[in-house]
Amino acid sequence: MEKIKRIALVAHDNRKRHMVEWVEYNWHTLMRHILVCTGTTGRLVEETIRRKAGSTISEGFAIRKLKSGPLGGDQQLGALIADGEIDAIIFFWDPMSPHPHDVDVKALLRIAVLYNLPIACNRSTADFMISSPLLDREYEQAVVDYGEYIERKLS
Ligand code: PGA
Repeated sequence: MEKIKRIALVAHDNRKRHMVEWVEYNWHTLMRHILVCTGTTGRLVEETIRRKAGSTISEGFAIRKLKSGPLGGDQQLGALIADGEIDAIIFFWDPMSPHPHDVDVKALLRIAVLYNLPIACNRSTADFMISSPLLDREYEQAVVDYGEYIERKLS
């Protein structure tokens, strides 16, 4: 991973308030990185960063917004992970409600683990992640070799 990380941010509706609070606290650090979000989370994160940064915001500041999670955004993010285009994920999923896209949520969690990505699913973990010295350094990530699986013999 490069020094500048590609960080994905996703929050379910019942966790969006937590995400906004967390971004209010960490916007300065987040702005040093490349941010990718599902649609609605992205709108809120962008509004929050613009409000906090005010006139200090750089002209080129932008957040990449995917589709809204239930409309395919989680799957788009999964595809970016599989293509090696995401370095870390902040994913405040809601443990108290069923969602129409529960299978997509599960798939996103699975693909993040498969590719050994750091993934924070609550604010405490997100706090540990954002304050890690590794966030602003290059990082040699251990990648599991799936070569044997790809080349497996099928009868
Ligand atoms: P949203 O999607 O940011 O578009 O609300 C999040 C989700 O539900 O996965």
